[in-house]
Amino acid sequence: MTVKSTFSGYDALAFVNSPLDRMGPLRVDSDSMKKKLRQKKARIVRICGESVLLREGKLDDHYTQSEHVFLGADKSDTLWFAAQVAEQSGLVPIRQIYTDGLLPKDEIDILAQARSLISWHERHAYCANCGSSTKIDDMGYRRHCTSCKADHFPRTDPVVIMAVERDGKFLLGRQASWPDNMYSTLAGFMEPGETIEQAAGREVKEESGIDIGQVRYVASQPWPYPSSIMIGLVAEATSSTIRIDPNELEDARWFSRNDVLSMLAREHKDGLYASRPQAIAHYILTHAAEGRV
Ligand SMILES: [Zn+2]
Repeated sequence: MTVKSTFSGYDALAFVNSPLDRMGPLRVDSDSMKKKLRQKKARIVRICGESVLLREGKLDDHYTQSEHVFLGADKSDTLWFAAQVAEQSGLVPIRQIYTDGLLPKDEIDILAQARSLISWHERHAYCANCGSSTKIDDMGYRRHCTSCKADHFPRTDPVVIMAVERDGKFLLGRQASWPDNMYSTLAGFMEPGETIEQAAGREVKEESGIDIGQVRYVASQPWPYPSSIMIGLVAEATSSTIRIDPNELEDARWFSRNDVLSMLAREHKDGLYASRPQAIAHYILTHAAEGRV
């Protein structure tokens, strides 16, 4: 069986092509930025949890008195901000927005920055150093402790995600909580003190019992659940006997190149399928299966 290529390129990935100039040096002047927010035409991404407020299919970006985080300026010099909103009707999950293409792609690409920043502020009202309250500064890129004066900065959590290959076969696993028949690349959070290569080797070994050798970087993707950066890799396996960690995976198997391509295309004869084109798992798996790396 020959399966047609499903390769849809980097542009299909959600969140990777933000059109905004973040204008970092201007953020320290919060007072003048706040004036601009009120005076100039501004766009506002209103976030509640993992959802965005839409009205009639568009971002609901009218100004309110809430605290705003600066995202950047687009090519027409329109300033973009993010703000938190309370639970209400009109909230649409970000996952649904990128899966169904409910907003223009350049607006979808802004949502990871907006959601990750708002989520960080939500969870950092108190100082990790002394427990006192913190206040927002630098238009959302710093929180300052009112008591011990410590500064806190928004975090990004690196995750390694690997397409593992051996002799034209590809290692995919599935977690028990996933929808039936879905398989994907292995992935896991990096730990302090690890290189990217070491984290990839440890995760693959822990989850599947497979050893890997050479690791090659392919691409990365911000992933706002809540603030990850997915580091997409292709790794060569140096062993083939799978021993899954049942706490991590329900199943892991070697799939042929044609199996993988048909799973990506959602045309597999047994109804198996892999991640959607908006996720980096799809991208790195396509790269590996089509021999692009
Ligand atoms: Zn403090």
